[in-house]
Amino acid sequence: MHNKTIREAFQQASSFLKQNGIEDTLFEAEWMLRELLAVDRTSFFLMWDERLTEEQIGKYEKWVNRRAAHEPLQHIFGKAEFYGRSFRVTPDVLIPRPETELLIEQVIHLADDLFEKKPIKLVDVGTGSGCIPITFQLERSDWSISTIDLSADALAIAKQNAASHKVADKISFHQGSYLEPVRQQAVQVIVSNPPYIPSEAVLHLDDEVKKYEPHLALDGGKDGLTPYREITKQIASLPPVLKRLIAFEIGEEQGKEVADLVKQIPACSWVEVRQDMNDRDRYVV
Ligand code: GLN
Repeated sequence: MHNKTIREAFQQASSFLKQNGIEDTLFEAEWMLRELLAVDRTSFFLMWDERLTEEQIGKYEKWVNRRAAHEPLQHIFGKAEFYGRSFRVTPDVLIPRPETELLIEQVIHLADDLFEKKPIKLVDVGTGSGCIPITFQLERSDWSISTIDLSADALAIAKQNAASHKVADKISFHQGSYLEPVRQQAVQVIVSNPPYIPSEAVLHLDDEVKKYEPHLALDGGKDGLTPYREITKQIASLPPVLKRLIAFEIGEEQGKEVADLVKQIPACSWVEVRQDMNDRDRYVV
């Protein structure tokens, strides 16, 4: 009796995932095999007819069963890709999303322009995995970056991620509510991808999100706008600065409401709702 080949394992996994309602089964069955074998796509397809070891088969079957129960692959692997880098994720933090990579991109462009590449002070509200502050610190090493989260568990993961990317002693981490921990600081850039799903709608999310991701990171209160209301209110009482940039990630139906909240910040001169890669409203800057 021979062990199964990579091709056989792939085909079995893919049809099992399909029976369990997973959509992109070919891609996912392949991704798990590449992760298992620690190879890139090119080498993977050259190994197609090699046999797996007993141990590899056991591990792969465990992963495939977890995925068939709709657990996110990022939880199964304990990591997610963001802005070309790897971040540790656990059920205590939101899995970084590609839309947030575009938030980073826009802030970098706007800030370079507005502050003429001078060192600035940036705060990120709602750290989660730490993907936002860590990416900024790696992309702009002279920025002074603070980040805040209500969850001590999330902060612990974010600090681990900062340590693996060697920026742990550059970023200041605070536990607290919205901007409270930095209320006496002259912050120039405020960024947040806060929880923005209305409480009731959280209960109707796909199992994949609802059962596995922290509701603290998803639930934005009755109408989903509570974090934007709180943050914009607190911005009004921060120490004044000459120029300030605010960038929020938002739910696709919240453009108008969030733009209205931002317009109410004293001396606000310009507000824009911007779209993500699927052309949905996703940012207010
Ligand atoms: N800022 C983190 C992220 O974008 C966490 C966001 C959240 O928990 N709502 O992934």
